[in-house]
Amino acid sequence: GDVTLEQVREHVWELPATGDMRVPARVFASRALLEEISEDKTLEQLRNTTHLPGITNYAICMPDGHQGYGFPVGGVGALDAETGCISPGAVGYDINCGVRMMKTNLTYDEVAGTEAELVDSLFANVPSGLGGGGIVESDVETVNEILARGVDWALEHGYAVEEDLLHCEDEGTREEADPDKVTQKAKDRGKNQIGSLGSGNHFLEVQRVTNVFDAHVGEAFGLEEDQIVILIHCGSRGLGHQTCTDYLRKIERQHQGLLNQLPDKELAAAPAGSQLETDYYGAMNAAINFAWVNRQLIMHRTRQVFERVFDRSWQNMEMELLYDVAHNIAKKETHDVDGDQRELYVHRKGATRAFPAGHPDVPTAYRDVGQPVIIPGSMGAGSYVLRGGENSMDLTFGSTAHGAGRLMSRTQAKNEYWGGDVRDELEDQRDIYVKAQSGATVAEEAPGVYKDVDEVVRVSDELGIGDKVARTFPVCNIKG
Ligand code: 5GP
Ligand code: MN
Ligand code: MN
Repeated sequence: GDVTLEQVREHVWELPATGDMRVPARVFASRALLEEISEDKTLEQLRNTTHLPGITNYAICMPDGHQGYGFPVGGVGALDAETGCISPGAVGYDINCGVRMMKTNLTYDEVAGTEAELVDSLFANVPSGLGGGGIVESDVETVNEILARGVDWALEHGYAVEEDLLHCEDEGTREEADPDKVTQKAKDRGKNQIGSLGSGNHFLEVQRVTNVFDAHVGEAFGLEEDQIVILIHCGSRGLGHQTCTDYLRKIERQHQGLLNQLPDKELAAAPAGSQLETDYYGAMNAAINFAWVNRQLIMHRTRQVFERVFDRSWQNMEMELLYDVAHNIAKKETHDVDGDQRELYVHRKGATRAFPAGHPDVPTAYRDVGQPVIIPGSMGAGSYVLRGGENSMDLTFGSTAHGAGRLMSRTQAKNEYWGGDVRDELEDQRDIYVKAQSGATVAEEAPGVYKDVDEVVRVSDELGIGDKVARTFPVCNIKG
């Protein structure tokens, strides 16, 4: 595109504010990643984002950034909660898409040889794909409870233990949730999807820890080399998607004035003080609770599968939640802006909160070292556990990357790869067992469609926004 950035210092690039831009934009990336980011519409979208009322300091793009609906994936926008706005497109369609990592005390040696059985059993027991139902078949009444209470609902119904809540962002419940603001249509879409991965990019992956880079933090997180861990990536399914759609349409109708000032209709936003600001925030928080319950139920079911395959109780295998991070959300947070404490809607879309040691919102268990940050790579590459870095509050409103980030579109990927070949190569050459609903999914998610996660994490670490703690490698993977 026609967007030219100036280098501020290593890994920091700036687009100065010109014309109607309210603030400059900043890209946090190495030169190599910036070149990839420059190939699609990411930088134009980032520039558009600087037009949003109340945008504070900078519009931000992470090293894994790529184009998205209106607002880049890998984007962070902090919008003033009193004078600014909230924007569904800057949260994303899959509200509270996120990842959680569950630990075990199994070693790779104990799992080697069972991969085929494990992957079949996980695939048979964890619902995935577009149909397929959920772990809990329910009615709208249950959906309403889940929307209001989040993981607290799962605790009451025996799908969670207290410890799980303590190792989840916000303890798995957003208090500001308002189920009445989620439409009937969204609830109907959600009611048969409670406990389901969904399709495409969502997955459940058994991994082994290959490196622990920081012994002290590794110990605080309970991570050791050769340990088996499980990564679960999914979001709020049709319920979240419908909620995003519903509010985009409402906001487009009621806030034409603001819409006309924005360079892209996809950035539609509800101004602070409006009814739709309150309604969307209540509905989005409810969808956030739904997604947390979704990941919780999948984790619960995974514990059961491991119990059967290894003939031990999950407690005996110490299958404990390391942490659950959201990477498509907006949250009202207080940040220091030039010495003032300001309430901001921090939009993180394809970006992860990365609060440092000592921050009061970091769970007690991790307060001394910083919150765990989970960054998946691909089904053929490593994934990472980081901890919130001490520069994150100054540079990125307490955020870092969320993945390797896509390098090519799904359509491109299907032209480039054949699912069956990708699967065979993973199994024969890398000992990774993959089972998916369709070959197309495997092609769309081939390791080559993603950027280099090692490079993304290196940038995060060198900037001090999220520090490397451990790296993992896939053992087996199920996909929607
Ligand atoms: P998103 O939420 O933007 O779809 O994806 C998050 C990240 O997950 C992607 O940027 C990619 O790096 C990573 N990812 C996608 N598929 C897989 C997978 O099968 N296994 C692992 N470990 N990571 C994946
Ligand atoms: Mn998602
Ligand atoms: Mn996601």
